[in-house]
Order: sequence, then structure tokens, then C-alpha cells
Amino acid sequence: MSALANQYQAINLSQGFPEFDAPDFLKKQLAHYAASGLNQYAPSSGIAGLQAQIASLVQRRYAHTLDPDTMVTVTSGATEALFVAIQAITHQGDEIIIFDPAYDSYAPAIELAGGKAVHIALRSPDYRIDWQLVASKVTNKTRAIIINTPHNPSAKILTNKDITALKSLLIEHDLLLISDEVYEHITFDGQPHLSALADKELFERSFVISSFGKTFHCTGWKMGYCVAPAKLSEEFRKVHQYVTFSSFTPAQFALTDMLREHGEHVDELAMFYQQKRDVLVEALQGSRFKVLASEGTYFLLLDYSAISQLDDVAFCEYLIKEMGVAAIPLSVFYETPPGDKIIRLCFAKHTETLLKAAEKLCQL
Ligand code: PMP
Ligand code: GLN
Repeated sequence: MSALANQYQAINLSQGFPEFDAPDFLKKQLAHYAASGLNQYAPSSGIAGLQAQIASLVQRRYAHTLDPDTMVTVTSGATEALFVAIQAITHQGDEIIIFDPAYDSYAPAIELAGGKAVHIALRSPDYRIDWQLVASKVTNKTRAIIINTPHNPSAKILTNKDITALKSLLIEHDLLLISDEVYEHITFDGQPHLSALADKELFERSFVISSFGKTFHCTGWKMGYCVAPAKLSEEFRKVHQYVTFSSFTPAQFALTDMLREHGEHVDELAMFYQQKRDVLVEALQGSRFKVLASEGTYFLLLDYSAISQLDDVAFCEYLIKEMGVAAIPLSVFYETPPGDKIIRLCFAKHTETLLKAAEKLCQL
């Protein structure tokens, strides 16, 4: 969709990435460390300073004390962390439960490891998880569940009830959890992010994965991390060692400084994106789209069933070519698309971009 958007010079609200740049301080530190000659391999699990800063962030946000040395592993983006965690725990024939609409890298990583992705479809407008249904999908081959909260693409967040149900299921069947929390700092309307890091019992069986790309507007750096108990981290590192061995050294030093000196960036992120969400939602008030609630992430779903009977892929192509706005059809996040008429917009964009896009969408 980004390629098509470029071809037609459409406003690109499709692929999820910020239109604005990373903070100047972070860029300055990156340039500084590269110029200082810190350009060789970092330790495989990350430089000690960054592991320590990640541990203090976790302490500050979730009141959980970690041993940075044995529990925090720096990765080349959350994508690498997800891939590595999946390879580390999946044996031939293992089943891993994922929720559709699902981030695109989960199922291929499971299949590549010889496992089977067991898809459970969530439906608009609430995308709530029926935990009884999940329990009915657990077999003696089930190894793990992957959750993603705040959730891309539905923009929903898990509640206390979800976490309680998830935890009892994991414990009852002795399953592992891969918790994709790349949007952990982006929740709206005062709702807290419920991290697997905040619950000791849950954390004991979890790989918690995050991304600096989302937090510091630097998706192109591909920097992230995985936090897991020491025993699980040990297994994770056996795979990480042979996937990348280590991640971009100057970025690790720069991110260490950013976390240490500018904690306020993380704390202000939710409000920063809530304002953008509100601008877009407000600007779409006059349109014929039904706007679904966005509780977190930088995504917003729109139901276009009052506007067109085209399927969502055809509708997105029409939007680009005729209206000059690019979105993502929700069906691509499903194994078996439910036939909903829903598209995803990314609002990590300047206000004027959001207003221009909304003006075009209001013409439909
Ligand atoms: N998980 C989800 C839900 C995402 O939206 C993204 C970002 N596209 C990732 C993982 C991957 O993050 P990264 O860019 O750090 O690899
Ligand atoms: N996470 C982003 C999205 O969902 C983009 C990542 C990608 O393009 N693979 O749009």
C-alpha cells in the first residue's frame, strides 16, 4: 500500500510509521557515538548501560525489579525478538494460539519453526477475546499464546478481566506467553497499559517484547528488546546469537542516553498520540465512515459499509487512486477474512496531513 500510495502520490495513512522525526537529542547521540568510533559488535545481549536503562524503565512503569544482565536482551527490532522467541520455544508440531487480526510476522515465524499457528478470529467492533473459546482451542500440542496489547490493528487494549482469564489458562495448561507490547506507552483516555511485566506470576512464563521504533519515532533503526525470566532469556539468547548475534552498537549507546536523560518523552507519548487521534476522529465527524474506538496504538479503524460494497482491498485501491488517501484493508490481518468492511488508518502524522486526509475522506 505504501508503494501504491507513492505511485499515486496519495496521503499515506497505511503503513504504520511516524511522519515526524526522532528526537534531536537521540539523533545527536547516535551521530556522536558513531563519530567516536563505537562501531564494532556490541555484546550479544546488549550493552550493559542499555539493559540497565530498560530495567529502570520497567521498574518505573510496572514496579517490577529485573536483573538486567540475565533478563533483558536487546534485539534488532521487535520483529527479531518475536521471531527469536517463537523459534526458541516451538518444536515440530507445536501449536501456538494467535488472535486475528494478527500482526503479519507471527504465523510465518511459527510455521518456519515447524509449528502450527492456531488462529482465533476477533470481530469488529469490539475485538474482544472469548476466553472460553480460547480454552476450547487448547490441545496437548499447545505450547504458547501470543497476545498484542495495545493491539495492532484493532487499537484495542486488554482489560484486567482478560489478563486474569489469560493467566489462569496459561497456568492450568502450563503454557508460555509471548506478549507483544510494542505500543505499551500509547494508551488513551487514562486507561493503563496492562503489561505482563506488572504481574509476577504471568511474567514467570512470558517473553515481553517492545520496540524503540514506536517509542522514539525511529522505526527505521529496527531496535527493540525482549524481557523474560533468566531461564527463558537463556533459551532466547541461544537463538538470538545465530540470528543477528548483536544489534546496532551506536544506537544502543544513543538509546541509553535518551532513556536516562529524557524519561519525559516516554511519559508524554500517550497524550501526544491521543491528541492526534482526537484531531482525526473530530475531522471525520462529518463523513459517512463509522469510526471505531481507538484505545491505544497509533491506529484508527473505519467501517465503510455505508459508503461502498467493494471488498476492503478493492476499496483501499479505490481510495488511493480516486481519493488520494492510502489505508490498509483489515482482511490482510486474517487467515480467513470475515468479510467486514473495515480499513485501518495510521495517525502518526502531522496535524495538517491528518486534516487533509480527513477532508478527502469526508467527500465520500
Ligand atoms: N509488533 C507489532 C504489533 C507491530 O505493529 C510492529 C511494528 N510494525 C512490530 C511488532 C515490529 O516492530 P519493529 O519495527 O521494532 O520490528
Ligand atoms: N507495524 C507497521 C504496520 O503495521 C509496519 C511494519 C511493516 O511494514 N512491516 O503498519
